[in-house]
Amino acid sequence: MTAFEQLPRSPHDKLLFTPGPLTTSMTVKRAMLRDLGARDHEFRRVIAEVREGLLEVAGVSRADGYEAIPMQGCGTMGLEAVLASALPPQAKLLVLINGAYGERILRIAQRLSGVEPLAYRVPEDQTFDPQEVERQLAADPAIAMLVVVHCETTSGILNPIADLGQVVRRHGRRFLVDSMSAFGGVEFDFRGCGIDYLVSSANKCIEGVPGFSFVLCRREALEQSDGWARSLSLDVLAQLLGFEADGQFLYTPPTHALLAFRQALAELKLEGGVPARAARYARNQRVLVEGMRALGFQTFVPDALQSPIITTFRNPDWPGFDFSRFYDDLEDRGLVIYGGKVLHESTFRIGTIGRLFEADLRALLSAIEQTLERHRRTL
Ligand SMILES: *Cc1c(COP(=O)(O)O)cnc(C)c1O
Repeated sequence: MTAFEQLPRSPHDKLLFTPGPLTTSMTVKRAMLRDLGARDHEFRRVIAEVREGLLEVAGVSRADGYEAIPMQGCGTMGLEAVLASALPPQAKLLVLINGAYGERILRIAQRLSGVEPLAYRVPEDQTFDPQEVERQLAADPAIAMLVVVHCETTSGILNPIADLGQVVRRHGRRFLVDSMSAFGGVEFDFRGCGIDYLVSSANKCIEGVPGFSFVLCRREALEQSDGWARSLSLDVLAQLLGFEADGQFLYTPPTHALLAFRQALAELKLEGGVPARAARYARNQRVLVEGMRALGFQTFVPDALQSPIITTFRNPDWPGFDFSRFYDDLEDRGLVIYGGKVLHESTFRIGTIGRLFEADLRALLSAIEQTLERHRRTL
């Protein structure tokens, strides 16, 4: 066993096969057993280390002109912060939508003054055509920014951010990526994708606990947004300048979540960084899908577009199959799966991120097999 694999999990918690919050190590949870003041020198060091560690995970640096800015709140608030901060006073925003998280970004944009959102929608098991994006950007110079979800957690589909980024860069617009459920768990070339802003959160692939999101961005893009913020507490540039002025959050920081996150970053490094984590998640997902197919389940997303993060399965029409009973029986065995979210089909989801290993997926598969067997017997 590697040093990373040896880190303990809580023996009392259920295993979370969900999109987050996720199963975390005991050491990440233990890191929270401290009370640090917001202005404490030690806490300011934690903030600085976390900001540095995030740039490292992204494979970019301050010298290249990139910044990492943690923001209090959940992931949605991080997206709301960027949209409220980085769009010019009158701007169109092109939102690429193939799931509920794309729809959510559209809803955020609809509430922001001076923002006119445009939607490019495709079905939830398909992804976007870069040529169509090219056509839309060329036709409308008022589109200031394009936003896309990296892994659409609704279905588990992976969108082609590198191809899309190239198109956006060619047209000189801003590129925002909601990489909430992918950052740290999927390898990609941050700079090569032409990303201006990326948002993710503490409780997904970095395997920390909930409490804050973070923005990774090109400093030049953010600096240009001076005076545009439509929100006080979600003003990304103001928070960056605050960190630079005194190393602190502008408002009460999630001290415990940051302590946990610093430990989670250290454990990511111990595992071997993003390549090793991405490989573990990919292995988890492969074992899951092979096992589920052997049991007769069908996946919703075509294999070529499937992410290693979360997988959507069609609810089978077998006699006696009832999802809520299936879910409850698995939960009774300490295994938590997730309901479906795609629009036009009855589905459920199983996540393969968090502190989960191949053996956990095999345990889940065997519990699923036994549960199905029992349901068949008690028809
Ligand atoms: C989890 C997630 C979010 C938002 O997360 P909250 O923390 O629940 O606000 C946004 N986008 C994607 C793709 C996600 O997976």
